[in-house]
Amino acid sequence: MDYDTYGSNAVELAIDLANADRDDPGWVRAFLDAHTEWFTEGTSLTLPEQDAGQVAQTATLVRDVALAESEPDVMARLNALLALASPRPYATDHDGELHLHYARPDAGAVEQLTTTVAMGLSQVVVQHGWQRLGVCSAEGCGNVYVDTSRNASRRYCSNTCASRSTVAAYRARKRA
Ligand SMILES: [Zn+2]
Ligand SMILES: [Zn+2]
Repeated sequence: MDYDTYGSNAVELAIDLANADRDDPGWVRAFLDAHTEWFTEGTSLTLPEQDAGQVAQTATLVRDVALAESEPDVMARLNALLALASPRPYATDHDGELHLHYARPDAGAVEQLTTTVAMGLSQVVVQHGWQRLGVCSAEGCGNVYVDTSRNASRRYCSNTCASRSTVAAYRARKRA
């Protein structure tokens, strides 16, 4: 599986967004500030209220796609997400390597974000299968992930959750 392309990296942006902690009222700005490399230079990351609402909606839809348990569900949710996107792809080599961007370079931050996330997630799902998306098995986590392992064996969102669960299982065995 080749995850070295922009399209595949964009799925990581989608996963990050779905897992963003939305408790803080300033979470959208914090998320954008942590992912500035995804926006064309000069894009304003200060959003009006309704734009922040669309970012939350996008985050929920990505999560819904990852949680879906059948192909029809995945398709419906993916299409809901794609309906928010405004793709206008163009080729660029701004980082030294020729690749595609999905949104207009002069689009606002939300349009760039939504389009990149929707296209990145869709590409991975149609190319590699919707089973590649999952929810973390660690107790009390609930984060979603994209499984890029060769044998599709991933069960946790992070190494932290994987080792936390290993320790918990070990303790449970010892108690038993
Ligand atoms: Zn790029
Ligand atoms: Zn986790």
